[in-house]
Amino acid sequence: ETIIRVENFTAAYGNTVIIDDIDFTVQRGEIFVILGGSGCGKSTLLKHMIGLYKPATGHIYIEDQDISTASGRTRQKLLSRIGVMYQSGALFGSMTLLQNVRLPLEEFTNLPDEAMDLICRMKLSLVGLAGTEGRMPSELSGGMQKRAAIARAMALDPPILFLDEPSAGLDPVTSAEIDRLILDLRASLGMTFVIVTHELASIYTVADRIIMLDKTTKKILAEGDPRTLRD
Ligand code: ADP
Ligand code: ADP
Repeated sequence: ETIIRVENFTAAYGNTVIIDDIDFTVQRGEIFVILGGSGCGKSTLLKHMIGLYKPATGHIYIEDQDISTASGRTRQKLLSRIGVMYQSGALFGSMTLLQNVRLPLEEFTNLPDEAMDLICRMKLSLVGLAGTEGRMPSELSGGMQKRAAIARAMALDPPILFLDEPSAGLDPVTSAEIDRLILDLRASLGMTFVIVTHELASIYTVADRIIMLDKTTKKILAEGDPRTLRD
């Protein structure tokens, strides 16, 4: 079952085309990885997929809704169906983990305080951070901060999670632990993941399918299961 459909998609900043007329789909429950060298447009693609930018041409459908044209309540509803972990500034340093994880709940729901807090504790526990709700981000290791950022992205139980460079700044062991968490979450919750990374070890561990973007042609250079792709 197709959960994300990217059709005739072109991305440009002003007159500069970054991605030129590409197509791909992501299936429900898949761990889908976007690969490519620095500056090839991985972040640009991700930002379009989460509705931050509008395509120069083409469409991006999330669960059959065009994220670039949805507006008002439809757009809010659609945005609540995707969790995003940004590469930089993942957590607000002046807030506890609980306050960080609560943010999407405050933005998108009218739940009572206690219900929000309960959900936050559950999400922190789900990512292996039970009992840390009162801690500040600066008190945590890099790997724990990533886990907390993933917990926040999952606050609204989105079926799709977008992760921008989840291994950035992590040592290989910690990075492998994040990979394990991603696999566990997919196994237990059936979530769909779209991950931007250039960490080859992670790709072989987690990716069901990859697309590799090419900076020169601005097209998809390769697509498939990383374990069977050659060259
Ligand atoms: P990647 O994530 O693969 O490193 P990016 O999507 O960040 O690539 O960037 C692709 C290209 O688009 C780069 O040349 C970058 O400088 C340019 N770019 C990214 N964001 C903007 C922007 N907001 N305005 C203009 N150019 C941008
Ligand atoms: P990332 O790797 O997360 O895309 P970057 O360091 O490439 O981060 O970009 C940081 C910010 O600057 C992003 O919002 C990006 O869109 C913007 N940006 C990147 N390159 C350019 C550019 N050439 N012109 C204008 N904005 C840019």
